[in-house]
Amino acid sequence: MRRPAQIERLYLDFDGFFASVEQQARPHLRGRPVGVVPFAEAERTCVIACSREAKLRGVKNVMTIAEARARCPDILLVPQSPDLYRRAHNALISEITAVIPVDAVKSIDELTCRVAPADRDAPEALGQRIKARLAENIGPHILCSIGFAANRQLAKMACKAGKPNGNMVWHPKDMPAPLLRLELKDIPGVGSHMEQKLLRTGITSIEALLATQPKHMRKLWGNVTGERLWYALHGYDLQTPPSGRGMYGHGRVLPPSTRTRTLEHARAAARLLLTKAARRMRRDGWNAGRLALWLELRDGAWQRALAAWSPRRSSGALRPRDLVE
Ligand SMILES: [Mg+2]
Repeated sequence: MRRPAQIERLYLDFDGFFASVEQQARPHLRGRPVGVVPFAEAERTCVIACSREAKLRGVKNVMTIAEARARCPDILLVPQSPDLYRRAHNALISEITAVIPVDAVKSIDELTCRVAPADRDAPEALGQRIKARLAENIGPHILCSIGFAANRQLAKMACKAGKPNGNMVWHPKDMPAPLLRLELKDIPGVGSHMEQKLLRTGITSIEALLATQPKHMRKLWGNVTGERLWYALHGYDLQTPPSGRGMYGHGRVLPPSTRTRTLEHARAAARLLLTKAARRMRRDGWNAGRLALWLELRDGAWQRALAAWSPRRSSGALRPRDLVE
């Protein structure tokens, strides 16, 4: 396995994406604490994204409205505009692509790129070029953090460590010092369950985790993911295996006024969500082997699934279209 001696990867994550897109699109929100909420009648829901100004006042994502108001009484609550965020995403990606090819779009506000040899000696300048282009052509209110490192995992961690508005370079020659300043839970792939497991086995720091052996991490994780993480944290260039995606799913919380005794609104929402999921599947070249619908009700939940409608796909697995046709 190759261990790059230079910066080869870039990871970019927009800061408070939904909230900053709102501030860019609606001038009266600029410089003010903004919380994006799922719908206008928001009192019983939570903040799904907040602006930098709101974060400075102690508001966090997925905080209840009541708690957000307690910490920041003048917070401006804005109902989400998914179409606006999608259009902003497309515009931002096209501006970034004018500076550097995008290797993979990870989510609506995260992406990763390979750094070309010409940029490897001066990654900060590349980061500045991307930020300058976005400020110039999209607007100065949507900020991003960029991380550079030998591989994608480290670049993602560098990106997070540099937030907000970061341009963080973790050069292979300086590793692993920047990692040692972080905690186990700062590693993407170490959730609270895995963190507890590591702590129970006496691995209480990133330094201790780095000192294990790849096979040991494989055993801790129970699969090859742990071993891959060991190599990634040690700066090796890992070829990511093809996506292990098993399903396309969308969910929606119904606004209170549509939570009626009939299923009219739930049915309309389910239809819309199915259309969205199907559109994404078609774009990625998949057929469906199974269709499932989950409803969470006030007092319980309901779930049904339809098996594949083609006998050739009865296993329930999703396969690329070219394999089944
Ligand atoms: Mg983000």
